[in-house]
Amino acid sequence: MSEQESNSSEISLTEEEKSLIAQAFSLNRVEIHDGFLVFVAPDIGSRRRENGIPVEAARAILEAINRGAERLEDYEGWIDPSSGFVEFEVKQQGLNWFVKYSAEYEFEVRPCSHTHRADPPVEMSQELNHISPMIRVTSKDSSTCIEISRNTPLCTPITPIEHFDRKTGQARRSGQDTLKVFLPGPTRKEDLKKDAQQLADTFLFELNARHRLPYKLRQRMPHLPYLPNLPKPSRSIRYPKTAVSENIATLFSIPSDFDMRGNRTLAYLSYYQIIESFLPAIHQRATVAAVRRMIRSLDFDETKDSSIMKILNSVGRAHGASDGDQLKRAVEECVSGEKLHEFFSLNSIHFGKTGPISGVPAINARSGESIQSQTAKRVYALRNRIVHAKDDVRFAESKVLLPLSHEASKLQPDVELVRLLAIDVIVDNP
Ligand SMILES: [Zn+2]
Repeated sequence: MSEQESNSSEISLTEEEKSLIAQAFSLNRVEIHDGFLVFVAPDIGSRRRENGIPVEAARAILEAINRGAERLEDYEGWIDPSSGFVEFEVKQQGLNWFVKYSAEYEFEVRPCSHTHRADPPVEMSQELNHISPMIRVTSKDSSTCIEISRNTPLCTPITPIEHFDRKTGQARRSGQDTLKVFLPGPTRKEDLKKDAQQLADTFLFELNARHRLPYKLRQRMPHLPYLPNLPKPSRSIRYPKTAVSENIATLFSIPSDFDMRGNRTLAYLSYYQIIESFLPAIHQRATVAAVRRMIRSLDFDETKDSSIMKILNSVGRAHGASDGDQLKRAVEECVSGEKLHEFFSLNSIHFGKTGPISGVPAINARSGESIQSQTAKRVYALRNRIVHAKDDVRFAESKVLLPLSHEASKLQPDVELVRLLAIDVIVDNP
């Protein structure tokens, strides 16, 4: 420790403490400047910049780490088994009437054993010089409380360094709402995690369903972007000649919409919907072609029942074709195997057996099955994982793929695959 640091020990941290914090937030390096713990946040988008939290908050986080608290894995927030406490960061979605009408609400709140900073409906924060809404309810036996209020130091918002005003400490004023679950006391980590999650889910559901107060737990996203390798797009811009209807043009534009970035399941479904809208026409076209081939064949004889039956059977089979069969036919009709092979070879790990998306078949270029057929099976299985709820017995074996989940954050190569199919289907069906 340098001389300068030891002189101001209350606003400094030892190297060991710094590395504990860095570890908790998956950072390479943290430093202290002017009462703030400063770090380069892992890459979010393409810009790297310095961020920080006040040192007091860092101290509180260290204390929590030392008594066994950990960051949650799937959501932004902390779990503290030693006191039976979990804090989730929440996002308010849309208009929140509670802020405006907080005085009109009543709360099922009872005396309890926890330490709460204030009672609903509002709390005064001297530090923030600010009144913020507070929602709290207590279980019948007074053991458990659920609360939405300003964050504790554990969930101090990370502020870009350029927002710090070092003279006034302006950045310290920023805060965020968190959902806190207080159990009666020390709780086993796994039980606490499960109970808190369940309580948070039901409470947020009821706040939205009964009161139109929409809050959402903030998902913890992986730091590294996960992007597919793509063939280089053409650099030669031409006068357009692809016929595209307004509906298709709109659907196609949705995944590139900036607001939709990150919602990869929605992007997937938009492209899939384009393909789906062409399926009946492609299917009909293929059936007509098959019947025409039969009629033209040399052994077709319109006076023979067996010849007519051949046609009827073919049409009957076509009529009973499932969505999956229709998709397979569309991929076979419209997409070249060569293009698919190239795409898969650029992203072989993602589409291979050890890829990050579960419950869908891997693509194996060397298997006997055609690449189009394997593609269609994977695309359809993934579509089912996105749209079918768990309770549907037909899809009982595959678990539903939730938007903005960890798994969905790895979905981009599959989104590019349906995009490729959608483009070829559009081009092939003027
Ligand atoms: Zn309480």
